[in-house]
Amino acid sequence: MRLTRGRRAVMFVLLGTVLAVCISFYVPVSRGRLDRIPVISLRIEDRSGVLLREVLSDEGGRCRWVGLADISPALLKATLAAEDRHYLVHPGVNPYAVVRAFVQNLRNRHVVSGASTITQQVIRNIYRFPRTLFAKVSEAWLAVRLEHTLSKDEILVQYLNRISYGNQALGIEAAARLYFDKPASDLSLAESALLAIIPRAPSELNPYRNPAAARKLQQELLRRMREQGDAPAGEIDRALGEVVAVKPASESFRAPHFCDMVLAGIPPSERRSLSVIRTTLDAGLQVKIEKLLAGHVAAMEKKGISNAAVVVLDNASSEILGLAGSRDFFDERHDGQVNGVTALRQPGSTIKPFTYALALEKGMTAATILEDVSTQFATLEGNFAPENYDEKYHGPIRLRSALASSYNIPAVSVLQTIGPDLLYRRLKDLEFDSLRKPAEYYGVGLTLGNGEVTLLELARAYAAFGRAGLYLREKSIRALRRKDGSPAGPPPVSKPRRIFSPAAAYLITHILSDRDARVPTFGYHSPLNFTFSAAAKTGTSKDFRDNWTVGYTPRYTVGVWAGNFDGQPMENVSGISGAGPLFRDILILLNEDRKEPFVEPDGLIHIPVCPESGLLPSARCPHSIDEIFIAGTEPAAVCPLAHNRKTAGGAAAATTGLSATTGLPIVRGPSMPKSALTIVVPQDGDIFKLDPVLRRSYQTLSLQVRLADGNNARTIEWWIDGQKIAEVGPPFRFSWNLRPGSYTIKARGISAGGALESPPVRIKVLS
Ligand SMILES: [Zn+2]
Repeated sequence: MRLTRGRRAVMFVLLGTVLAVCISFYVPVSRGRLDRIPVISLRIEDRSGVLLREVLSDEGGRCRWVGLADISPALLKATLAAEDRHYLVHPGVNPYAVVRAFVQNLRNRHVVSGASTITQQVIRNIYRFPRTLFAKVSEAWLAVRLEHTLSKDEILVQYLNRISYGNQALGIEAAARLYFDKPASDLSLAESALLAIIPRAPSELNPYRNPAAARKLQQELLRRMREQGDAPAGEIDRALGEVVAVKPASESFRAPHFCDMVLAGIPPSERRSLSVIRTTLDAGLQVKIEKLLAGHVAAMEKKGISNAAVVVLDNASSEILGLAGSRDFFDERHDGQVNGVTALRQPGSTIKPFTYALALEKGMTAATILEDVSTQFATLEGNFAPENYDEKYHGPIRLRSALASSYNIPAVSVLQTIGPDLLYRRLKDLEFDSLRKPAEYYGVGLTLGNGEVTLLELARAYAAFGRAGLYLREKSIRALRRKDGSPAGPPPVSKPRRIFSPAAAYLITHILSDRDARVPTFGYHSPLNFTFSAAAKTGTSKDFRDNWTVGYTPRYTVGVWAGNFDGQPMENVSGISGAGPLFRDILILLNEDRKEPFVEPDGLIHIPVCPESGLLPSARCPHSIDEIFIAGTEPAAVCPLAHNRKTAGGAAAATTGLSATTGLPIVRGPSMPKSALTIVVPQDGDIFKLDPVLRRSYQTLSLQVRLADGNNARTIEWWIDGQKIAEVGPPFRFSWNLRPGSYTIKARGISAGGALESPPVRIKVLS
């Protein structure tokens, strides 16, 4: 009896629990949870109102709440077929799916996301449970309650308006407008099937990044719908054959890195109250920059460069006019979403101008003679012996040439003289916020770019030179408007701060725009030569991982980085051949119609000096050059040099051509009379200058011949100084590695008419 009573008690408790659970299913889900997601339309515009990106909700997605009447019936069918076949009959959970998921969970000992019903997905979307077994149970319980709270149609409306369709598109209306530029009511069956499969895996099935995978599932869904008779077979066959044209991402996400930066700069609480962000970007310029960038990266791919980044600033206002963070925001293979403008990289030689600007303020001059000789510098980590890229020393050299030619040892010894602390503090004044370690950590290597910085930091710091020494932090927002239409104050803008004296800034500008001074390194026809006033500096990080060109005109500052986000080294690239040409094209784009000169400030004097001593010329000096000095720093002493050694160059230097970088001579000799076989590259008397920045192994010359009409040859032998170095077939070119020295080159071939031999070509290669 006692046993029976005990059993009865247990029965009561069990029954009570079951009853309570059953009743609990009828407790309605809180209505507040089911409110429409607030429709927040936020427009990000360019400086003149062109739309860059639109309509962001609280969730950071696009959204407009629509009822079933505003949704294409095809989409409803496709959604039920894709997500929840038994939606109209199940009680919120699919009992079979629950059992199956439970068994799977036991087997796998972790939560397998089973086939959730549409109702469960709505619950998950509203409550955002963690992925635990308890959460799964709660979710099912709430799903049953939801079925008692709303009708099937109402739940479907909740689902279609809340679910993510990827690319920040929340809800079907936003998705239809984003991908097809039409309202959800107008979706075709083919379009509907594509959208219906996305919520399952919005990033894997992203139609921008993975169109093939999305299309495959779309086709599978359509075929399943045909088997199950969801629509007339003819209609489905037509949909299967329909080419679904997704609107290109570039039209909905203009300047994606820039817009992301702008949004990230506004706190979410403030963002919610806004309806318009009027930015500083110039959408027309942006499109051109993106095109140039894509074209140059495509051309550089052979050299192992997969990405580049560009930022353009207006000097007067420091407004960002153009910004492209990668070649393609949607290219996942090359980390396209990484913003190369704000990514941390080693800046190489681009830091040197700041070192020299300080040196000029400390009393050195552009004519100060610096020693480019083997030097050891004591650092915390022991002795440091910097080398130039050409692994050569250039002896005494004027500061102007040392900066323009980007030699390393003079830059380090100058920094040693003025103190690395001073440069560190000045870079901090220039808001190189990325230099987070103490000054001692970087030491004198700071001037060679051992501290990681961003392209934006470099560009805005260079703009200070273009602004005669005044620094102004960059701006990306012009105006903000609230939802009620009232203007909201844009973020406070810092005032310009003086970092360098106008005279020192001008001298740096003068050196960086001095094409003659950089000839020893870059040759006469470097991409940094312009028909208008422009200052520029290149940089290449260790192991050729990063490649930079930063520069400015009186009006604009442009920063370009080229490289790989995964740090893969590039091949055969220096600042001049990687980022340089893209920099050049952008600067020309900006300045085509402008010929403004840099304005020389007061306090500078021009006097002639001896190029070898940097002092006042004596009667013995072979010639003098004009140099600019900050008044009071000009030399007082007269050149003491005897100048009795022969100067290089001379009468042979008749005409100028291109540098060895481009495979053409800097000095071209007289051309030879034609014969049956003629060497066309190089030509007799050519003199080549090796590029000190490029690795030697990359400095090659493509030897080329021309056969006179009526002659032909199967192979051509290349002979240098009496030794055969190669035998090549058509087009008979041979890539010869340049080394310093004098050479006699001949080409020999056999034709039907007999042996051919070219006239000899004598050339010189200078280091
Ligand atoms: Zn002299």
